[in-house]
Amino acid sequence: MDFSQGAAWMRGKLVPVSEAAIGVTDWGLTRSDITYDVVSVWKGAFFRLEDHLARFAASMSAMRLKPPETRGQIRDILQTIAAATGLPDLYVAMVASRGTPSVPGTRDPRQCANHFFAWCVPYVRVIREEVAARGASLYIPTEIVRIPPESVDPTVKNYHWGDFTRGLFTALDRGYDSALLLDREANVTEGPGFNVFAVSRGALVAPDTGVLEGVTRQTVLEIAAEIGLPAEVRRLPVGEFLNAQEIFTATTAGGIAPVTRVNDRRFGDGTPGRRTRELMAKFDEWRMRPEHRTPVSAPAGSPADIPAAAPEGDGLTQAPAS
Ligand code: PLP
Repeated sequence: MDFSQGAAWMRGKLVPVSEAAIGVTDWGLTRSDITYDVVSVWKGAFFRLEDHLARFAASMSAMRLKPPETRGQIRDILQTIAAATGLPDLYVAMVASRGTPSVPGTRDPRQCANHFFAWCVPYVRVIREEVAARGASLYIPTEIVRIPPESVDPTVKNYHWGDFTRGLFTALDRGYDSALLLDREANVTEGPGFNVFAVSRGALVAPDTGVLEGVTRQTVLEIAAEIGLPAEVRRLPVGEFLNAQEIFTATTAGGIAPVTRVNDRRFGDGTPGRRTRELMAKFDEWRMRPEHRTPVSAPAGSPADIPAAAPEGDGLTQAPAS
C-alpha cells in the first residue's frame, strides 16, 4: 500500500488516507457531532503528544463521546499511522465521532455507536511558508461574529466552521491571507485554525475567552516566561489589537507566523517584528527539546493487536476496550 500521501486508521484497519471515509448517516457528518485534535510530527517525533492526548480526552468527555479505544490504544494508533508514512514531518488528526444511530431517524444521541479514527498527511501550514516569511495579512469581517462560547465551546476542538468559512471567503475575496473573528463585544478571538497574539505596550497578550486553548499558544506562553517577556491572557479589544506593535498567529499547523497587516493597518515597518522573530527562533528550539518529543516508532504487534472499533450502526453496544 502507498502511504506517501498519508495514512489512516479506520474501523480497525490501516489504510491509505485517500481510502478512509465515514458513512453518510454518521452524526459526525450530518450534525458536526464530532471532536478532534491535531498533533504534529516534526523531524521524526510527535511534539507535545501527551498534551494533545489530554486535550482530546477532555473534548470527548465534554461532548459525552466514548469510543472504545483507550488512551494507550489511541497513542499506538497514532504511532502506527505516522510510522507507516515514513515521513519526518506530519499533520496527525485524531477524531471521535458520534456515529450512526441504531434506530434510523432517532434524535437521541445516546443511540449512536461512537467511533474513533485517525489520519495523517504531510505537514500542513495554515499560513504558507512564503507568506509567513514576508508576514501574513488578516482581515476582520465585523459583520461575522465568532460563534458564542455559550453555543459551541471553542475549547472543545470542533468542526463548526460556518463562521470561519464565511470569514475566509470575505478575507480571500479582498486579497487577504486569512480571517480573524471578533466576539459580540468586539474582542479579538481567533482565526480559522490558529490563535493570535499581540505585542501590546511591551507585553505579550493572548485572548482569554472565545478561543481554543492551543498547545502552540501554551508553548509561546511558556517561552515568554522563560525569556522574561511579560505575558497577559485577557480580553483583547480590537482597538488595542490594531494599535499593537506586533501581531502573530500560533498553531500546530505551521507554528508561529508573523502578521504584518490587519485590515488597513500595517504593523511596524511592514516586515516581521523583532519579538515575533525572537519567539519563532525559540519555538524552533523548543520543538527539538527531548522533553517535548515522542519519537515515531511503530508499536510492536501493531496494527492487528489494536481492537477494531464497533462497526458503524450496530446499536448501543460498543466493542470492549481491551
Ligand atoms: N484555534 C483554532 C480554531 C484551531 O483550529 C487551532 C488549531 O488547529 C488553534 C486555535 C491552535 O491550536 P494548537 O496550537 O493546539 O494547534
